[in-house]
Amino acid sequence: MTARHPQLHLVVSDERGNIYDDPDLLMLCRRGAQWGLPRPDEVMPLPPESEFFLLPGRQAVGLDPESGRPSCPGGEARLAVAAFAAPGHTISAHPVYESGPEAPLLPLFSYGAVGFAEGRFYLCARRVDTDPRQEFGNVPRARIERGARDLLRAYSGNRLVRHILENCVARYDCPAARNFALGRYEAPLPTARACNARCVGCISAQEKDSPVAATPQCRLAFTPDPAEIVEVMRIHAGRELVAPVFSFGQGCEGDPLTNAELLRESIALYRAEGGRGTVNCNTNASRPAAVAALAEAGLTSLRVSLNSARPELYHKYYRPLDYSLDDVRRSICEARGRGVWVSLNLLFFPGVTDTEEELEALARLAGEDGVSMIQWRNLNIDPEWYFRLMNGGGGESGGLALSPSMGLGRFMKRLRKLCPWLRYGYFNPYLGEKARIAAPAPGTWSMPEPKSLSDGNGSGDGGAEEG
Ligand code: SF4
Repeated sequence: MTARHPQLHLVVSDERGNIYDDPDLLMLCRRGAQWGLPRPDEVMPLPPESEFFLLPGRQAVGLDPESGRPSCPGGEARLAVAAFAAPGHTISAHPVYESGPEAPLLPLFSYGAVGFAEGRFYLCARRVDTDPRQEFGNVPRARIERGARDLLRAYSGNRLVRHILENCVARYDCPAARNFALGRYEAPLPTARACNARCVGCISAQEKDSPVAATPQCRLAFTPDPAEIVEVMRIHAGRELVAPVFSFGQGCEGDPLTNAELLRESIALYRAEGGRGTVNCNTNASRPAAVAALAEAGLTSLRVSLNSARPELYHKYYRPLDYSLDDVRRSICEARGRGVWVSLNLLFFPGVTDTEEELEALARLAGEDGVSMIQWRNLNIDPEWYFRLMNGGGGESGGLALSPSMGLGRFMKRLRKLCPWLRYGYFNPYLGEKARIAAPAPGTWSMPEPKSLSDGNGSGDGGAEEG
């Protein structure tokens, strides 16, 4: 295959955070236990609005082209560097480094492999959604602040409005909250203080004995009432006139299904007054009866988060308290059976997700339960920690060996071949009030025969797509 990019050099940092390229070493990348040069088709120029991370206590490793062996850089700048990809992009590899004994656990972000050539940075990733909804490069900060101020003045009695603007915009700079301030795209509807899972990488709460030092966001400290929720929906529908989306289930809360009756009442109220737009729920989907009730009330779409379609890996990461992956699958069937669009929020991790066993399990889940879309999200977690946990180390479910990575691009392509109706993307799509669904009804699909599973050449590249 012809390389579409120049030869990439290793990127390193000194202790002060100054970033350099190393002209003597080539960039390596990591997928689970595998180290190698990036594949020619998996590298793209670093997208605007991506961010660099210096990885403390971790010595960068590149490839010495003369010896053909992995090698650490000399000189002062030796620390490994990673990039957090701008929204809409999924990373396909992590950087290669050697962790020293004092290396702290990395905070809950995703860490993409970066290289440098001919004056620019490159990233192992692909764009999976062309929707610009979380691009803010051309939006002056003053516009967001003015939008927030005006809403706070007009709706000062609404605690949810205040939470979104004073907490999520001002403290966390949350993209969904910024969009609410701007009156565009998707509005967040955080409601839940509790959760019935204990995800290893939960960004809103960790247990006392967790090694995670800090969560990027904190849980909501109150429960809004239906009137406050519906007012937020009305405000947003009155400003985003083309394609309003409203989403329960945000980074600053627990799981919204723990408040199912509140959600049901809010959706029913909004729909009863003729409220339009796509009402979506981002959730762990642990409660099938609650999902059925929301669907009856007027829910348009359900986005189900999972790191794996295999129970062993799912349970190791989610550590559910009172449900199992079977309940998640039942929820998907309840939703699909009532005409609700189901997306999987697939927490992609190079070297764990893109394996043969995961492909088969994911295709079965999507086909048998009637999933309409895959949102290719990056799992925000320390790469070595997660890989150890999934590859048999620790956890509550024993070890499970992982087969070699096939790469993100090939994984997407082969999944599409098995489940050709699947839409790929990153964000919750606008679907009107009721989606048109092409996914099979639950229980009507069976895995294609092996002869039709071969990779083939004509099935598209599985990349960014709208539709
Ligand atoms: S399901 Fe969501 S809120 Fe609950 S523990 Fe997992 S990440 Fe946290």
